[in-house]
Amino acid sequence: MRSIATLDLQYAHRFYGFKGEAQYLHGHTGVLTIEVEDTINEGVNMVFPCNEIQKTAWALLKNFDHALILREDDPLLPAILEVYEKQGIKDGAPTNKMKGPAFKTELATAYPDCRLVVTKETMTVEGMIKIVYDLLKEKLNIAKITFTSGVNAACAEYVTKNNIDRCPLCGIALNENGVCPKCGYSK
Ligand SMILES: [Zn+2]
Ligand SMILES: [Zn+2]
Repeated sequence: MRSIATLDLQYAHRFYGFKGEAQYLHGHTGVLTIEVEDTINEGVNMVFPCNEIQKTAWALLKNFDHALILREDDPLLPAILEVYEKQGIKDGAPTNKMKGPAFKTELATAYPDCRLVVTKETMTVEGMIKIVYDLLKEKLNIAKITFTSGVNAACAEYVTKNNIDRCPLCGIALNENGVCPKCGYSK
């Protein structure tokens, strides 16, 4: 069975080199739906708590919220960094609080201090799905990701490994020592 969680991401981007309106900088509220598949965890009678799916995803994906997402070869990137630098906000600002940990994968690098994500490929809805799967595949048994942004939507399905041990008391993933980080249950 599947547990399904949804979260919103507000971001600005553009499709560099694309012959259409989307080559101009613009913004979206993107809606991300993550479907986690596994057996029912008998102890709690659920596959995985949806608020935990959200929490796990948000920990990394908040770097995309109120962020600018640009492709690595986009000439806007050095131009924007120069403005942020001159303004003194490139390496952070006291009001920039909602930051996730910086991350770097093959597809994306997050710079939380200036709310910027630099991507290898154009950040279409398809591109975002690839980035999200890559970031979360070891943390959640993801069976499907759907991403909707304006009139664009895409989804991808995956075969799950179902190798994440879950706490029988609160349903969340046990840590590498077989201990629940929330309630302290030990396997
Ligand atoms: Zn767009
Ligand atoms: Zn627990």
